[in-house]
Amino acid sequence: MPTPSPKWILHLDMDAFFASVEQRDHPRYRGKPVVVGARPGRRGVVSTCSYEARRYGIHSAMPISEAYRRCPKAIYLRPDMDRYQAVSEQLFAALAELSPLVEPVSVDEAYVDISGLERLFGTPEEIGVRTKRIIAEAVHLNCSVGIGPNRLIAKLASEASKPDGLKVVPQQQVQDFLDPLPVNALRGVGRQTQKISDRLGIRTVAQLRGYPLSLLQLNFGDKAGQSLHDQARGIASSRVGDSRERQSISKEHTFNEDLTDPAAIDRVLVQLAAEVGQIARAKGLKGRRVHLKLRLSGFETHTRQRRIPQATNADNQLLRHGRDLYQASGHQGEPLRLLGLGISEWDDAPVMGDLFDSPEENKKEERLFETLDSINEKFQGKLHRGLFKHSGGE
Ligand SMILES: [Mg+2]
Repeated sequence: MPTPSPKWILHLDMDAFFASVEQRDHPRYRGKPVVVGARPGRRGVVSTCSYEARRYGIHSAMPISEAYRRCPKAIYLRPDMDRYQAVSEQLFAALAELSPLVEPVSVDEAYVDISGLERLFGTPEEIGVRTKRIIAEAVHLNCSVGIGPNRLIAKLASEASKPDGLKVVPQQQVQDFLDPLPVNALRGVGRQTQKISDRLGIRTVAQLRGYPLSLLQLNFGDKAGQSLHDQARGIASSRVGDSRERQSISKEHTFNEDLTDPAAIDRVLVQLAAEVGQIARAKGLKGRRVHLKLRLSGFETHTRQRRIPQATNADNQLLRHGRDLYQASGHQGEPLRLLGLGISEWDDAPVMGDLFDSPEENKKEERLFETLDSINEKFQGKLHRGLFKHSGGE
């Protein structure tokens, strides 16, 4: 097998975004503590504050009354979301020039897959410099950029470089970079996790790494224990992309007249499996979860899904699991108005630093999909157009 080329993920985060937009647009605010958030004297919190305000110990999510106590002379502003949104659109348009693989995380934060761009734009470091320049030219604001072999390292690198920074952490430096960080720098470390690690005397990632998986799972639970174990070793997902598009590939057929004949239903399944398999193979994706969607006459919609032992994009496998799901659906023999088949939970080709996806993220995606399924059931398929591509006439 050829050696997979290394993944390079870039994480970009605007510095004190809302406050910076205000300072950009109002020169008299520059160099001064600016606090964007609730009105002082009212309930509510700080949304973003300028670096000048941070010197007073003010930070995001702090009660506005506390911020005011610390710095009454700061400039207090209510957020102007429309303006920030417009700036956000400009910055994402600029990022799109860099790479087609941009995944927005929020109005001012994104992951960009820059793997393979070296030939065009130079080293990861040079790509980072270029990114900062593109953003500065597009919106005249500072950002921080982190680059690493996966999302976790890229994000931690951008955090470490703030403000107006750039930090590249290649695979061979991942462990040295992670080890001195406090455990709460890792993803998903909330108050509870913090409490347990305090009790165990774990302060740094290096100390965390000293604990075997079994012991971590015993103390933090299976999921969190696994996640901490993996993160401490820099193991995380390097997937970047439109999450909806990545979420599933599916096809469905709507029938002009309700379908009741078992042989006809099976023929549709055969066709759906072939269509879904073809798209998945074209995209080079193999899925670990097969979905079946049934709409009975009267628009009652049901979805069934199962996780399969081995990721696949083969027609016969998809068909086999599709048939099983239909057999077990409890709606066998009922007149069908629509039949759909899909796969999801992609099994990405192993790439450097991404031998395992973060279980935390997989679970999140799984939950998202299940939520979407139940929403769809609730709305009886009204939302399904976005999720399942139509191929039959309705
Ligand atoms: Mg930011």
